[in-house]
Amino acid sequence: MASDLHFLAIPLLCPGHLIPMVDMVKLIAQHSVTVTIVITPRNSDRYGAVLHRAIASGLPIKLLQLEFPASDHGLPDGCESVDDLPTFDLSKNFFAACATLQKPLEEVLLELNPKPNCIISDKHLPWTFEVAKKFQIPWVIFDGMSCFTQLATHNLCVSNIHEKLTDSDMLILPGLPDKIRMTKSQLPGLFNPGNSTKAKELKSVRERVREAELEAYGMLINSFEGMESRYIDEFKKLKQGKVWCIGPFSNLNTNDLDRAQRGSKDSINNSHSCMKWLDLQSDHSVIYASFGSLTRLTPLQFIELALGLEDSNFPFILVVKGGSRTEEIEQWLDENGFESRVKGRGFLIRGWASQVLILSHRAVGAFLTHCGWNSSIEGVCAGVPMVTWPQFGEQFFNERLVVQVLGTGVEVGAQRVIHLGEEDAAQIQVKRDDVCRAAKKVMDEGKEGEDRRIKAKHLKRVAEKAIEEEGSSKFDLNRFIEDIRLHTIKGHVVG
Ligand code: UDP
Repeated sequence: MASDLHFLAIPLLCPGHLIPMVDMVKLIAQHSVTVTIVITPRNSDRYGAVLHRAIASGLPIKLLQLEFPASDHGLPDGCESVDDLPTFDLSKNFFAACATLQKPLEEVLLELNPKPNCIISDKHLPWTFEVAKKFQIPWVIFDGMSCFTQLATHNLCVSNIHEKLTDSDMLILPGLPDKIRMTKSQLPGLFNPGNSTKAKELKSVRERVREAELEAYGMLINSFEGMESRYIDEFKKLKQGKVWCIGPFSNLNTNDLDRAQRGSKDSINNSHSCMKWLDLQSDHSVIYASFGSLTRLTPLQFIELALGLEDSNFPFILVVKGGSRTEEIEQWLDENGFESRVKGRGFLIRGWASQVLILSHRAVGAFLTHCGWNSSIEGVCAGVPMVTWPQFGEQFFNERLVVQVLGTGVEVGAQRVIHLGEEDAAQIQVKRDDVCRAAKKVMDEGKEGEDRRIKAKHLKRVAEKAIEEEGSSKFDLNRFIEDIRLHTIKGHVVG
């Protein structure tokens, strides 16, 4: 039965943010809090199967559907998710379209009595802070990143040491529990924006997000004690305890249908043949290679990846997302005869892969990942070692966490961030030999490989425990809900 609490969840319309937000909505609703998620028609279709199953199971979840004015902002009709953008040059238009949801949302809130007890918003929607302020509702943010990233970002903002450096200069990330080295060109866009006009435009957006973030009531994080405890402790201290680590979210999807449809209801079509293929492979023998929802490798970079996997001689699954370059990639696949050469040993997925379902299969032995935070934590939950190939955003931080702190990763050797939309300028960063070498290393049967596998399996168990009844994430979730309850009571007394 639902309690008297009601939370409003506002996701960024982008799979890497919406997927964990949907999981989080289910998680909070499991604790008898009514949660309304703001959604648009196309996303309601894409994520609706999972949400409606949760509602049918009795969870107090509501959908608040708002029209998305894509065409008013120069976006193709029906373009309601960042991964639908024909080019990332349209990101500015997309965010402008998102900001117009403020008015209809405020109209709904005006009518609502009582108001929600808290707004959980993606931090990349700073206009939601204005909504929260107007209606005097605590604004809790979620940005789908680790405490390692939060702490590293905070410390860099305070120290500004990156400002005096050139791109190739090496720095030690200030104030972290471990000595983490990286070059300036591997830092996220906030510290390493590049010189393009788009970069300059983005700078002010990032700064606005950062300013709003500092005003947040608190922060929810998809992470858990036991994986990055020292980073969590430090970050909680910094935020006076108003940080709640309630992950890992992907583990909440316990049935195969939810796993198969996580992120796209249609991926169920792909997943059936893929799972049948995996059933034929031996335990821990397959490398699963995927770059998340936004990265589009250039055809030349894709070729190096494909040939590297072929050279490694391991069975593999390769997720192909070419975006506007799909035709070129398909042409190469066809003319080069790649698919027929790797027939039986390589399985290609075009479009959306049921990642969490695939990773949970006993045949998967390693995950070649772009180190998006969701993918990184899903790799941890699956208990598999990873080949790390960061692309953009904070992904080099995640690589350092996986390789250096957790000890479960092998670097492919990426050298610098490739900002979304600037892939062509980056040329080929990683050669087929690098891919092959990293694949052999991660699958290595010697002591080093075995150590990585032992650590990965251990972390899987720690992740499972975190969300059990006595687990740290359960504890933090209860702490969060009680905090909001108390805040509401105090507000009523004072009001
Ligand atoms: N994902 C998936 N199938 C795909 C691509 C991505 O299920 O074909 C999911 C993946 O499991 C993860 C999310 O989409 O939950 C991607 O988030 P991440 O932070 O890893 O990377 P991003 O897409 O934001 O770069």
